[in-house]
Formats: sequence, C-alpha cells, structure tokens
Amino acid sequence: MCGRVPNYLIKEVFSESLSEGHISIIRKLTQPMYDEDIAAELGIKATTVRTMLNDLHERNLVEYERIKNKATGWYTYIWKKREDKLREYIKTFLEEKINRLNEELEIERAGVFKCSCRVVSLEEAIENNFICPNCKETFVNFNNSSKIRELKKEIERTKELYNKV
Ligand SMILES: [Zn+2]
Repeated sequence: MCGRVPNYLIKEVFSESLSEGHISIIRKLTQPMYDEDIAAELGIKATTVRTMLNDLHERNLVEYERIKNKATGWYTYIWKKREDKLREYIKTFLEEKINRLNEELEIERAGVFKCSCRVVSLEEAIENNFICPNCKETFVNFNNSSKIRELKKEIERTKELYNKV
C-alpha cells in the first residue's frame, strides 16, 4: 500500500509503544519543521520536543537536516517524517503483538491454575507439583474461557489492523 499511514494506525501503535506526545509530533510533521516551531505549535517545551524527536529518530521514524547559522555559528534542525519507515515500524509492531497474543492464547488453552496468591500456566503448576511454593496451597484449574474469548477477539482486531497497514 502507498500514501500516508492513517492516523488511527499511528495512534493505535504509538499509544502502546511511545506516548501521546510522540503521536502529536508525528502528526505535525506533514511537512519538514524546525523543532522550535513544533514546540511552539504544540505548546510543549522545546527540550521535551527534542527528547521525543530523539526517541523517534532512534526508531528511524524521523530524520533531520542540520543547518548552521552563519551569523551565530549555532545549529538549527529541520525534522522530517520518514513515511516508509513509519509503515514498517507499525507493521512490525502489530506483527509482534499478534505473535505475543498467540503465545498467550496457547498458554491459556493449555489450562491455567490458581491459588490464593497467583495464576500460573499448566507448565508452572506441573513444575511445582501443583503446590504453590509461595502460599503452599494446591493449584486448582479454573475456567478461563472468557480470557480465551478476549484474546481471540484482540488477535482478530490486531490482524485486521495489520492488513490495513
Ligand atoms: Zn500461592
């Protein structure tokens, strides 16, 4: 797919992996901008904006051009969004999320057990001979069908998002 990555996909992924501030910055960068201008337009401190731009740069989501002011000798930075990398980042994030949820689903399907103090997987219950090393209670199996249903729904939802990237 080509063109701009839709805002709802950016919001979905960034709210889990970065923050609301990063979302507003990437949304502002519809064209190259100086960090001071981003800060002024968003009403956020320039140092905060720079920190967030660096977070985005670490993830290859933005790039900058450094320009030297001949009069003062100071550098200013113009920031640009990398649309191709943004798409890649969102795709990878959603892919990893689907894998993580599938692993979780597998564990839940194998059965989960609980005592007064926690919930453990079948594997962990077996390792401890079905006795909690912490509270010494017996691990009992419990109905996790609603959790399984929730996981399946979230996997489906995430897959749909992934297909839209
Ligand atoms: Zn326990």
